[in-house]
Amino acid sequence: MKGAPRSSQFDDVYFSVDDGLAETRHVFMQGNDLPHFWQEKGAAGAQDFVIAETGFGTGLNFLCAWKEFCETAPLKMRLDFVSFEKFPLSKTEIQEALEPWQSELGEYADKLLEQYPIRVGGFHRIVFDSRISLTLIFGDVNEYIPELEARVDCWFLDGFTPAKNPDMWSDTLYRNMARLSYNGTRFATFTAAGDVRRGLAAAGFHVEKRKGFGRKRDMIVGHYAEEGELATSSRPTRIAIIGGGLAGTSCAYVLKQYGFEPVIYETSDRLASGASGNEIGLYNPRFTALRGADSEYYSSAYAHVIRMAGHAEAIEYSHRGTLHLISNEDKDRRFSKLLENWHWHGDHIKRLSKEEASDVAGITLDHEALYLPDAGTICPYKLCVYYAKDIDIHFNHEVNDLSDIDADAYVLANGIGATKFEELPIHTVRGQVTIVKQNDALSNLRANICYSGYITAGVNERHAIGSTFQKWLEHSDILDEDDADNITRLKEAIPSLGEIDFEIDTSRAALRVSSKDRFPITGRVPNEDNIYLSTAFGSHGIVGSLAAAYLIADQMRGGVQSLPKSVAKSLSLQRFIDRAEKKRLNS
Ligand code: SAM
Repeated sequence: MKGAPRSSQFDDVYFSVDDGLAETRHVFMQGNDLPHFWQEKGAAGAQDFVIAETGFGTGLNFLCAWKEFCETAPLKMRLDFVSFEKFPLSKTEIQEALEPWQSELGEYADKLLEQYPIRVGGFHRIVFDSRISLTLIFGDVNEYIPELEARVDCWFLDGFTPAKNPDMWSDTLYRNMARLSYNGTRFATFTAAGDVRRGLAAAGFHVEKRKGFGRKRDMIVGHYAEEGELATSSRPTRIAIIGGGLAGTSCAYVLKQYGFEPVIYETSDRLASGASGNEIGLYNPRFTALRGADSEYYSSAYAHVIRMAGHAEAIEYSHRGTLHLISNEDKDRRFSKLLENWHWHGDHIKRLSKEEASDVAGITLDHEALYLPDAGTICPYKLCVYYAKDIDIHFNHEVNDLSDIDADAYVLANGIGATKFEELPIHTVRGQVTIVKQNDALSNLRANICYSGYITAGVNERHAIGSTFQKWLEHSDILDEDDADNITRLKEAIPSLGEIDFEIDTSRAALRVSSKDRFPITGRVPNEDNIYLSTAFGSHGIVGSLAAAYLIADQMRGGVQSLPKSVAKSLSLQRFIDRAEKKRLNS
């Protein structure tokens, strides 16, 4: 067996040098009375079991819990595992560290590695199958635990030893553990340090010493001993989704993964009849200088779409990388701040000189660029078809009144049409995309390039050049001047293409929906039990709609939330109600 991996930063090992898996079983599984605890909860009728961990590291604890859960938990029960990790390891590091348990855990480790998120800060939800979900939170546990919404059954308190990593073992951690626990929630940890015992006891946990693993004398276990209800809410089963674009189909896809019965109602005779029907769509996060709800949302959402790579063929997924030209001072300032603030690993975002950017692009560029190597294009129409492949769909079905449809809950995912059911601060923005045939000059283009518009790398020997942005037009007729405008902006941004004649293959115009503050509106409608919204994704529908779908599923399940609390709040329609109320009070 190779030695256990060691952190040079903390001068400590990830797990016991003697046998990491035996240590996990002793400390975290037996320490939390697993599998007996989940069997007992299952027998009492619970459908979910939630484990939260500090310090994901190599994932060894998670893999061990996953395997044992599959082998011993009631078949109808689901495991939601949440784990915080401030310094995510790379896939290669994880693979090497788990090598000794290849025969026991290899099958599970391969699935983890296939879905392991890119290393960008924030929440990452991975659904492995109908029973196992992981919410991996890349960031400091003390920063993110106040943002977690969950009901935890047991805690795995890992993390390097308190003597070497005192900052992690904080009152913020213990207070939030208490907030997320109910009377009976258990915890276990490898350490028996006095500060940890006292901190947990002060937060309301009953603490007991046990024999530690191997050469360690003591460890501690215990349970939450204060008042705290285990919330039980009734869940809807049949979900009517109004709208068959990206918002609606992504919801159907996610809800199905969680065992709901979604049905799509679509006014037209096909999926993606509106803005989601484009042939080539870029997926990118939306950039902001500072970290906040926007960056948390778009980082998670972008990482999520990248995990769709496993279905590349069905959705024409092509990650050729995207260069965002730094063509003015405003972009220079914004992108520099973003690089400082967003906490993305350098593998996933970098600033390139114009020579480096030109090398990546395959054509001469006149500007420096922000480079996202994992970004690319998807066919939005095919993505909708993929999402909806096992879903019951009613085409040519215009819904005028929700009470005409028999369902337990409703998702309004029909863009501007949702205003028929709810008063929403949304408007349309027309966008025309011009698709040109590949020519000699464009055959060299190897990456997607964004400026005030964009050009994509070749997809089936064609390139999309986009897009116009017209709030004042409400039709989707093709306008020649819009094609001319797209091509003029391209030539201005990339002078090396200035003399080239482009042959237009097709053009497509559609109305996208945007909100007053340009952030999507999604989640449960305030003061309604069973109506949910998924709209206003603007030109980031591919990325934004999937993350929204997970949030809606979480709210319907009453389970672990896949986005920070503050992000869910910023996405909710409630924000506009609050702002109007504030304005009223101030006037
Ligand atoms: N559970 C892990 C496993 O199964 O491989 C081993 C965990 S290792 C002993 C401790 C982990 O805690 C490291 O991956 C480390 O980066 C992480 N960590 C340390 N301080 C942290 C903090 N403040 N917030 C989140 N993670 C932290």
